[in-house]
Amino acid sequence: MPEKQTAPEFAIETVDLSKTYAGGKGQEPTQALNGVSLSIPRGSFFGLLGPNGAGKSTFINILAGLVLKTSGDARIWGFDTEANMRMARLSIGVVPQELNIDPYFTPRELLEVQAGFYGVPKDERRTAEVLDAVGLADKADAYARSLSGGMRRRLLVAKAMIHSPPVLVLDEPSAGVDVDLRRQLWARVQEMNRQGTTVLLTTHYLEEAQTLCDTIAIIDQGRLVACDATENLIQRLDTKQMTVRLDADLSAAPEALSNLNTTIQNGRELLISYAPSKINAGQILAQLNDAGLNIIDLSTREAELEDIFLSLTGRQARE
Ligand code: ADP
Repeated sequence: MPEKQTAPEFAIETVDLSKTYAGGKGQEPTQALNGVSLSIPRGSFFGLLGPNGAGKSTFINILAGLVLKTSGDARIWGFDTEANMRMARLSIGVVPQELNIDPYFTPRELLEVQAGFYGVPKDERRTAEVLDAVGLADKADAYARSLSGGMRRRLLVAKAMIHSPPVLVLDEPSAGVDVDLRRQLWARVQEMNRQGTTVLLTTHYLEEAQTLCDTIAIIDQGRLVACDATENLIQRLDTKQMTVRLDADLSAAPEALSNLNTTIQNGRELLISYAPSKINAGQILAQLNDAGLNIIDLSTREAELEDIFLSLTGRQARE
């Protein structure tokens, strides 16, 4: 396995990475990636987001050695994915989207076969330990077909980790997994991350990315449109919403509030969008008071990843 003492600053690094798929008969070629330069720090929990067709799978498949790049560079743990393919592949474990598991194998057998595939010597195998890490120790000898969807997903995480790669890639791991099982999966992956594994996650669940990832990159139409600490990304939008409930219906927003962006809903609710860098909630409340409005209740909402996503790509995440 790659030596940890030579640990690079970036677990994954791409420079100007591009991929154009040749078109079939009568079809135009598709540029799936267009000059993507991304540096994923060692130890981070990194989210790669983008609408359908943005190029996420292409990016991951290049890292996994399943798709050849057209130009640019891609390195995993410092190893070039093509010039040093063997070491690059040993450095990464990919959990695929599909739940493809041979139903007649037991988890233990499946992991042994995978370890053999990676050339892990018998006395260095950690099958039991890896099964334990994903919470499947008691299912080690059950037929895979008897495992639930969430257990299968965790078995695929175990399979991706059997050669102890320093980088774990999860491609849309929550699709079709219910909330409880998703939580269990995340608890396991977060623990691996705490132990030092770098995690790269693609997901359509923005809330999930916001909770789990310390850094988020957004790609759209093959280009990188944002990459920042999750917190910074959200602050960058500089927008918040306040909803106030009044004691009487309003037909129009009072003239005194014309400097605010207001919308009336359900007769007596005022929805106010504002930039926290320019005005704060207290100042808004004082203005409402001066305008003679009586407030019964209020709530505020921070910008969310969903808003960032929309403002950067103009599209919903779930298309
Ligand atoms: P995402 O994972 O973000 O949905 P993909 O990487 O799958 O995006 O796709 C990016 C673009 O490349 C899309 O326009 C898609 O149709 C195209 N594409 C993906 N794989 C192939 C392929 N094997 N051959 C031709 N075009 C492809």
